[in-house]
Amino acid sequence: MKNLLIHNGRLIDPASGIDGQFDIAVAGGKIVWIGNNQPPAGDYEVVDAAGQVVAPGFIDLHTHLRQPGFENKETIATGTRAAALGGFTTVCAMPNTSPAVDNRTVVDYVNCVASREAAVRVLQIGCISKGRKGESLAELGEMAAAGVIGFSDDGSSVPTSRLLKQAMEYAAGLGLPIIEHCEDASLADGGQVNEGIVATRLGLAGIPNAAEDAIVARDIALAKLTGARLHLCHISTKGAVDLIRQAKSDGVKVTAEVTPHHLTLTEELCLGYETNAKVNPPLRTQTDTDALIEGLLDGAIDAIATDHAPHTANDKCCEFALAPFGISGLETALGSLLRLVHSGKLPMALLIEKLVAAPARIIGKKHGVTGSLGVGEPADIVIFDPNAEWTVDPGKFASRGRNTPLAGERLKGKVTATICRGNIVYREGN
Ligand SMILES: [Zn+2]
Repeated sequence: MKNLLIHNGRLIDPASGIDGQFDIAVAGGKIVWIGNNQPPAGDYEVVDAAGQVVAPGFIDLHTHLRQPGFENKETIATGTRAAALGGFTTVCAMPNTSPAVDNRTVVDYVNCVASREAAVRVLQIGCISKGRKGESLAELGEMAAAGVIGFSDDGSSVPTSRLLKQAMEYAAGLGLPIIEHCEDASLADGGQVNEGIVATRLGLAGIPNAAEDAIVARDIALAKLTGARLHLCHISTKGAVDLIRQAKSDGVKVTAEVTPHHLTLTEELCLGYETNAKVNPPLRTQTDTDALIEGLLDGAIDAIATDHAPHTANDKCCEFALAPFGISGLETALGSLLRLVHSGKLPMALLIEKLVAAPARIIGKKHGVTGSLGVGEPADIVIFDPNAEWTVDPGKFASRGRNTPLAGERLKGKVTATICRGNIVYREGN
């Protein structure tokens, strides 16, 4: 491992309140110096970051790595390389694999593969229920002992309030959050796109906003009752943002994430039966998108997470109703989100806060992720050029999932280097 000197960049570290021209020296996997004069004596490889932003490596709270069981869609090796290309140094892997991550053996398996093959840090999320069936609790205690950062049946909500309440009581005792996919299955059943004009024009069944709002309301009520920490996944509706804002002002321990696609895309992308725009929750309306951005600005929404959901070309090359939900999102996240910065809707420092400091707080320090660039902290760093323009070419993705509705789009903003634990895990052109 070489010592690195990251020179001449604009350093943005929301956790320590830094936004300015500073150099960073890295040695032994850690940040050893931040300043703008002479670094400590040493033999450094200089990384020129002139005109670029230097920030703590992004942390994705919601990634589908698909291993074990769906290695044709993604593996821990390919998914974490996609993460590195996207500027992420930590990904939190969702447990809807096959077998599902519902006991210690599977957690240990993922950790073992990740330790050998992952390009960036992998933290695992365990299931709430056995086999994600929503019937009985999974082995929450033993998975906590194996290091999971929380529990989720992502892909589905916990079907009964009784089971969710039980899960919250155990999770609270373990000091871990319940991470919910918010969708009332009976309302969403058979739905393909957002319920509304686009669904009608396409002749497809819709998923109403109420499917999300109903579960968000239920979950908040149970978090209030149990005192458990509740983290709500991929919020997509104005109603949900309003409920979360109210719950926070009532003192409920709730946090929420939103995806780059729900912040920047709307349901019209599905016109033409574009299966790469089929995602769950569905792309909604401009009213919802505006409310999500408002939620980021006022703190109702804590974090941005990709919900990276890779699928094979065959999976998506079919009739709309048969295609699986999901967008391969790790490699386009930054470029998509910078549209909000370039259009003046979101300040750059707040974007970094939502990609780094907020997810680090939700994960908690005991898992070794700090989301900041303090001296002595692990050197997890992203360097990106906010003005570099590029065209999305899914054929060049590191991810096995080329399923993106952004193919051929011009994006402005590109990661040029990603450093994880002091190692350069991605460098542009290399
Ligand atoms: Zn989900």
